[in-house]
Amino acid sequence: MEHTTHHFRIGNINCYAVREGRHSYLPPQFPPPKTLLFKNAPEAELNKTLRQHNIEPDNWPGWVCDYTCLVIKTEEETLLVDTGLNDREAHCGKLVANLRTLGIKPEDIYKILISHAHPDHINGITQEDGNLVFPNARYLMGKREYQFWMEGEAKSALEGHIGEIMCGFVNRNLEPVKDWIDIIEDGEEIIPGVSTLMAPGHTPGHIVVLIESQNNKFLYLVDSLLHPIHCEHPEWCAAVDFDMDMTIKSRRKFLAMAANEKMLTMSFHFDFPGLGYVKENEEAWVWESIKTSFYSTR
Ligand SMILES: [Zn+2]
Repeated sequence: MEHTTHHFRIGNINCYAVREGRHSYLPPQFPPPKTLLFKNAPEAELNKTLRQHNIEPDNWPGWVCDYTCLVIKTEEETLLVDTGLNDREAHCGKLVANLRTLGIKPEDIYKILISHAHPDHINGITQEDGNLVFPNARYLMGKREYQFWMEGEAKSALEGHIGEIMCGFVNRNLEPVKDWIDIIEDGEEIIPGVSTLMAPGHTPGHIVVLIESQNNKFLYLVDSLLHPIHCEHPEWCAAVDFDMDMTIKSRRKFLAMAANEKMLTMSFHFDFPGLGYVKENEEAWVWESIKTSFYSTR
């Protein structure tokens, strides 16, 4: 049986990791996984590292990863972070059904935080017919991310086919809710105990989420890392990382923060439920997934 939700608490704040789907990034639609995830990694070292992670580098057909959204529930409010890809053909689009198993209906969601405007995080805003999935929601978006995608910058910065595709998703999903988007500042507390921090690089305004309650801390890294190997090699960037230097800087900053403060962390693209700890290891870090052997569905 596939596990679809996972409950955890940070102090007195309830959190739920909610499965949205699993995506296979296969060529020729996407670059080969080594290029897609580690485009600047030296070949020999990358191959060695992949083998340590039980991936045979010459026989790796594509990157297969889970998509996991986060729901944060305080006594007063429910906040959904990101909406997933919502593409049933790609084995995604399970967010609404899985929210219902928690007793949360789409019309009960009043606040959605958009970490960044990539398709796998925003395409769950609208249904295929253009109707809104969450009819009562307002959206929170970082100032820089909003500027980049909604004020014309993305069109010139992202050239070619990929740029067209990305901007198409923005037009279909963010334009219709433009009047319901609230801009947030770096470090702003969006609900009590929950704040967002700028972690640019993957996109120009990518943000991470910090929860603090009763001396417990949690860091949602979202897409700061796409694969656990990025902990060991934060300098290896993905083809979809917009700015490599900024990506590396943000990764180092938040990996150090998570490791130093021994925070529980979560990543959108890691194996469900995406939760684990970042441990210091020589010059870098290593990812330790929480004990979830019963979650393994592969
Ligand atoms: Zn993503």
